[in-house]
Amino acid sequence: KIPNPATIVIFGASGDLTERKLIPSLFRLDCDGLLPEKLAVVGVARTEMDSEGFRKKLAESIEIYSRHSKDRICKWSKFEKKLIYHRADYDNLEDYKTLNRLLVDLGKKQDIGANCLFYLSTPPILYPVIVSKLGEAGMAQQSDEYWRRIIIEKPFGRDLASAIDLNNHVHQVFDESQVYRIDHYLGKETVQNLLVFRFGNAIFEPLWSRNYIDHVQITVSEEVGLGNRAGYYDTAGILRDMFQNHLLQLLTLTAMEPPAGFNATSLRDEKVKVLKAVRPIKPEEVAKYTVRAQYRTYRDEKGVVRGTETATFAVLKLFIDNWRWRNVPFYLRSGKALNSKVTEISIQFRHVPHLMFPLPPEEQLPPNKLVLCLQPNEGMRLGFETKLPGAGMKTRTVSMDFLYEQDFGENILPDAYERLILDALQGDASLFTRSDEIELAWKIIDPIIQGWESEYAPPLAFYELGTCGPSKADEFIKADDRKWNPCI
Ligand code: NAP
Repeated sequence: KIPNPATIVIFGASGDLTERKLIPSLFRLDCDGLLPEKLAVVGVARTEMDSEGFRKKLAESIEIYSRHSKDRICKWSKFEKKLIYHRADYDNLEDYKTLNRLLVDLGKKQDIGANCLFYLSTPPILYPVIVSKLGEAGMAQQSDEYWRRIIIEKPFGRDLASAIDLNNHVHQVFDESQVYRIDHYLGKETVQNLLVFRFGNAIFEPLWSRNYIDHVQITVSEEVGLGNRAGYYDTAGILRDMFQNHLLQLLTLTAMEPPAGFNATSLRDEKVKVLKAVRPIKPEEVAKYTVRAQYRTYRDEKGVVRGTETATFAVLKLFIDNWRWRNVPFYLRSGKALNSKVTEISIQFRHVPHLMFPLPPEEQLPPNKLVLCLQPNEGMRLGFETKLPGAGMKTRTVSMDFLYEQDFGENILPDAYERLILDALQGDASLFTRSDEIELAWKIIDPIIQGWESEYAPPLAFYELGTCGPSKADEFIKADDRKWNPCI
């Protein structure tokens, strides 16, 4: 269904996210005929620029002229007419009033109407002031005839207290039903497929519990190091950057009960139940349940504080205290500057209860393993034992694979932002994070950060660039008589 006519207002439109993700996603949606004909995209930022300059900058950045076919260039020429630039200071009410007049004008002259999606794509420190000014200018109010919505980029707070503050602040101006907190992981096709895989098939769900699953590994590894994000990253670290949002989101989708329907409330209610059931790691327990590490050259990176203890790699062992998952460890692992860019969820089943084949007593058959690859080789792999042909009863592990590329063709997966922007325009918040979800996630992460900053912190381990991470991570899981799914 094509959304109704609307204006999208991007704050921070001179920035990296707008250039690399938001405009390219909107352009692709437009090319695919998924956006309304009557649409305007207003970029707001402090940089001096006019609409022409804005269009040119974006066209260059998405390499419209060099990479795409004639047809695509022609489409861009049509699309770019929808782009308007509005220079403004984020704290100047007058600039919002001018912006409002522009929106009213666009609404009337181009027959777009008054639906408006605000997108906060500035550094988070500016979120409160932008929200306040939108409120003061009367721009957040909606009516029966038109809607007003706001997308808020991550990070949402830097701890529980600041997330609660930000939620309270946002709620003074916008109703929760108008708020779309983005975690782009949820926009990934493969992440959504986790729901179809679990709840669209009858054969996996009966096995999806402590009765058959030994443990779960969730891995998000990055090849890149710090890049130019030192200012943010060195004060945030891996737990705030990756675990509070992406890894916990993957955990909830893996562990949740079947929602009654595919709608925002049912889905988010079930995710919230998982977060509530996560056994808290107390600050004094962090050495037992976590690993923290830093890549060797991190301290030499530009903009990093000398001798900083900021972790660029972490492992958390979490338990979910409910009937389905009691005592099944969930190992969450993520790091920067590793040997590959991989996101995967590995479900490790239990050993067979009794081995009837003649193996030496110390040997066991490898347990079944189901690996859901979210990137790069999107798909899934189920490993199981087969008999080696020939005499005796020797076995070997083989796999059944599903690869998106093989079944659906190359380059078929849309960018996460395409899906999420479209959903927000359609008023579907299923793949966005609710306020209670954000706060519960911080409740899990906060005490760990506190522990890491206290005398209970496990020693900071170090690892070489381009490796699988610190040997400490291997020792950590080995102590549980388990091992990581092949080197990330
Ligand atoms: P950015 O490039 O650093 O900033 C966006 C714009 O905000 C800048 O062009 C600048 O525009 C304005 N700005 C920057 N610092 C400011 C300051 N101190 N005071 C006032 N204005 C300032 O940010 P981004 O990379 O586009 O990211 C935007 C948001 O999305 C951030 O919250 C980020 O955490 C989140 N995010 C980004 C990515 C990504 O891939 N980039 C991924 C996930 C989440 P003017 O100076 O012209 O006003």
